[in-house]
Amino acid sequence: MDGRTDTDATASSCPLTEPETIRSFARVAIPVPLGQAFSYTVPPELGAGVRRGARVLCEFGRRRVLGVVLDVSTDAPDIPAEKLKPVRAVVDPEPVLPDELLSFLQELARYYIAPIGAVIELALPAVERTAAEALARQESFDAGHSTGRMLQNVSAMPGVLATEKLKGNALAVLDDLRTNGPRSLTDLAKQWSTARAIVKKLEALELVKLERVEARPDPFFAQVARDTPPELTEPQARAVNRLTVALESRAKCAFLLDGVTASGKTEVYLRAVQRALELERGAIVLVPEIALTPQLVTRFRARLGDRIAVLHSGLTDAQRHAMWRALRRGELRVAVGARSALLAPVHDLGLICVDEEHDGSFKQEEGVRYHARDMALLRAHRAGAVCVLGSATPSLSSIALARSGRLDVLKLPARARAAAVLPKVEIVDLRQVGPGPGGDRLLSLTLFRALEATLARGEQAILFLNRRGFSPSLICGSCGELLKCPNCSVSLTLHRSAGESLQCHYCDYSVAVPKTCAKCHAARLTEEGSGTERIEATLKQALPTARVARLDRDVAAGAKSEAVLDRVRAGEVDILVGTQMVTKGHDLPNVTLVGVLNADSALSMPDFRASERTFQLLVQVAGRAGRGDTPGRVLIQTRQPEHPAIAYAVLHDVPGFIERELRDREEVRFPPFTRLALVRFDALDEGQALAECERVAAIARGAAPSGVEVLGPTAAPLARLRNRYRFRFVLRAVERKPLRDALLAVARASVSRLVRVAIDVDPVNML
Ligand code: ADP
Ligand code: ZN
Repeated sequence: MDGRTDTDATASSCPLTEPETIRSFARVAIPVPLGQAFSYTVPPELGAGVRRGARVLCEFGRRRVLGVVLDVSTDAPDIPAEKLKPVRAVVDPEPVLPDELLSFLQELARYYIAPIGAVIELALPAVERTAAEALARQESFDAGHSTGRMLQNVSAMPGVLATEKLKGNALAVLDDLRTNGPRSLTDLAKQWSTARAIVKKLEALELVKLERVEARPDPFFAQVARDTPPELTEPQARAVNRLTVALESRAKCAFLLDGVTASGKTEVYLRAVQRALELERGAIVLVPEIALTPQLVTRFRARLGDRIAVLHSGLTDAQRHAMWRALRRGELRVAVGARSALLAPVHDLGLICVDEEHDGSFKQEEGVRYHARDMALLRAHRAGAVCVLGSATPSLSSIALARSGRLDVLKLPARARAAAVLPKVEIVDLRQVGPGPGGDRLLSLTLFRALEATLARGEQAILFLNRRGFSPSLICGSCGELLKCPNCSVSLTLHRSAGESLQCHYCDYSVAVPKTCAKCHAARLTEEGSGTERIEATLKQALPTARVARLDRDVAAGAKSEAVLDRVRAGEVDILVGTQMVTKGHDLPNVTLVGVLNADSALSMPDFRASERTFQLLVQVAGRAGRGDTPGRVLIQTRQPEHPAIAYAVLHDVPGFIERELRDREEVRFPPFTRLALVRFDALDEGQALAECERVAAIARGAAPSGVEVLGPTAAPLARLRNRYRFRFVLRAVERKPLRDALLAVARASVSRLVRVAIDVDPVNML
C-alpha cells in the first residue's frame, strides 16, 4: 500500500519526473481452466500497447501463453512485487475483442462461475488461437497476418465514362462491372477466358480498380436469388412495428415472439434485421441447429444478400476466421448461427433474435456451460440492443420472464398463409390398437391406414421416433440378461444398416453381435423394441411401392441431412422416418401426415422438464404437417393419452399446458419458481467420486446462506459414463445471490485430482 501512495503522490505533484517509477499492472485472461485472471507488470517499452482487449504474450508457469488483457491499472495487485512477471509482448495493434463483447464475456464468466480465459477462448476462432500459439513459440509476430484465401476483386471506377478506346470483350467486361457491381477476377475469367489481360488493360486506363480481398468461401455462400418480401399479416405488422420503435429509440427491450408454427416468425426476424441494418447497426440471429436449417439461411440470404456471416460447423477454421475478421472489421454486420454465434464480434449490436428459443441445444453441455438464450438477453441488455426470443412453444423460463414484465409479448396467433391451417391431431392408444400388416407395434393399424391414404393421394408423411439404430436393446430370451455397454450404464443398441453391430450411444464402444448370451450361453438373443432403422425396413416390406428415406445421425451428419431433405422437397421421398432431426423447423408443404410413433419415450426421462420437452416436441413435430394448401393430420401414438403433455398437444393448447405445468412446478419448487445449480462429480473409482461429492456437499451446506437448499448427493441417473462413476448434488434457491455465494464456496473447495467436478448453473440436462 505504501508504494501505491508514493506513486500517487509523485504522479500528482510533479507529473514530469521519472514516469518509469509509475508502474502499471495488467490483469490478463489466460486460456487455462482455472482462476479468473492473472496479474503481470507492464514494462514501460510496451506502454500503451497493453490495453484492454489486446492480446499479449505472457509466461505461465514454464510455458509462454497468449492472453487477453482485461484491464490495466496502477494499483498493485495483492501479490508480492517480485513474484509478478512482465508482459512479454503485445500481439495485435488493435484490441482483438471489442469492448462491448469483452465486458459481456466477463459477465458470462461471472454468471456461470467459469474461468474467464476459457470463456474468451470460446469467442476467438481457432485460427486466431493457433496463429497465436505459433507466435508464442516464435516470439515474433506479423501484425498484418491473414489466414483467409485472398481474391482479386475488380470494380469499375466511379464516374469515368471514357470508353471510346474500348471494343469487344473489354467493353463487355466493363459494362458487366458497371451494371452488376464488383466481381472477383476468377469469376470474370470463368465468363471471359481473356479476363486477366482485359482487366490489366482496363486498370491501366483507370477504368477499373483491382483490390485484394479476403475470400469467404462457404457452402452457404452460394448465390441466392433475391426474394420479394410478402405483405405482412396484421399480427406480423404489429410485431414488426413494436420492434422498429424499440430499435429506433435504442431502447433496451426484450420480446417474446409467441407465434404458432408457420405463423411467419422468420419474416418478423427478417424485417427487424433489415431495420437494424438501415440504422447502421448489427444483428445476431441464433438458430438451434444450423445444419438442419439451411432453408432459414437461404431466406436470410435472399433478403439481405451477402451482408451476413453464416457461422456453421461445416466451415473450415480458415473460413470461420475470415467471417470472424469480416465481422470484427464491420464489413459484415449480421451473424447467423447456432449458440456460439452469440459470441460473434458484431459491431454496434442493435438486435439479437433467438429462433426456437425453447430448444435445448442453446445450452452448451461441456466446458463453459452457458445458455445462449439466457445470455442473449444479457448481451442485448448490456449493448443497448433489442432482443427477440421466438417460439411456438415458449419455454417456461421465458413465460416466467414475460409474466414478470421482463419480456414484452408479441403474438402471432395463426398461420401466415391463409390456406395453411393447424393440423388435426389424433391419439392412437397403443393399449387398444394393434399392429398393422408390418407386425411392428409402433406401426399401428391406424397409422398404417393413414399412410396408405396419404400415399394414394400422392402426399408425403413424416414419422418421428426418438431412437436411432435397429433395435434399442438385445435381451437373452433364456435368462433375461440385457446386453449393456461395459463403460456406461446403458444398454447397447443393435445397428444393421452399416454392418451389424452393437453400439453404445454414449461412448464409442462397438462390438460384433454375439451368438450366445455371455451369462447363460443360450443362443436366444432377441431384439427388443424398434429404432428408426427397423421402422424403415418394416415400411419397405409392408408398403413396397413407397419410397422411404431415413434421417438420423447415422445417415446424415451435417450437409448430408440437407441432401435427404432436398429429396423430400423434390418429391422423391414418400415417407421420411427419423429422430428429432425431422422435428426441426422444416417447411415441407407437401407433408400432410405426421406420425409420432412413441410419445411416451420422452416422458419417461428422469428429468423435471420431461413433460415440457415432450409437449414442445409434439407441437413442433405436429407443426410440420399441413404447412401448404392441404390440411394436415397428426397421429400421436401413446399408452398414456391422459398425460397433460399429450392431452394439451392434441388440443394445440399451448397456454393450457403452460398453466398446468407451471402449477406442477410451483408445487415441487422447481424452475422457473426457483433457481438450480447442479454440481457433478465423476471418477474412475466409484468410492472416490462419492466421497468427494459428499465432502463438497457438506462444504456447500456449511457455506449456504439461508434460503439455499442442498439436495443430495445422489448417483446421477446415468450412473456410469465412459467408465467414470457419476454423482451429483443440486443447489436450489429462489434468489440468485445466495445461490451464487454457496456456489463460490463449492468452486473454491479443493478436490482430489482424480475426481472431475463440473458446476452447471441453470442446468438443462439433468442426466
Ligand atoms: P415460422 O418461422 O413461424 O415457423 P415461417 O416464417 O417459416 O414461419 O412462415 C411459414 C410460411 O409462411 C413460409 O412459407 C413463409 O414464406 C410464409 N409466410 C410468412 N409470412 C407471410 C406473409 N406475410 N404472407 C404470406 N406468406 C407468408
Ligand atoms: Zn458406453
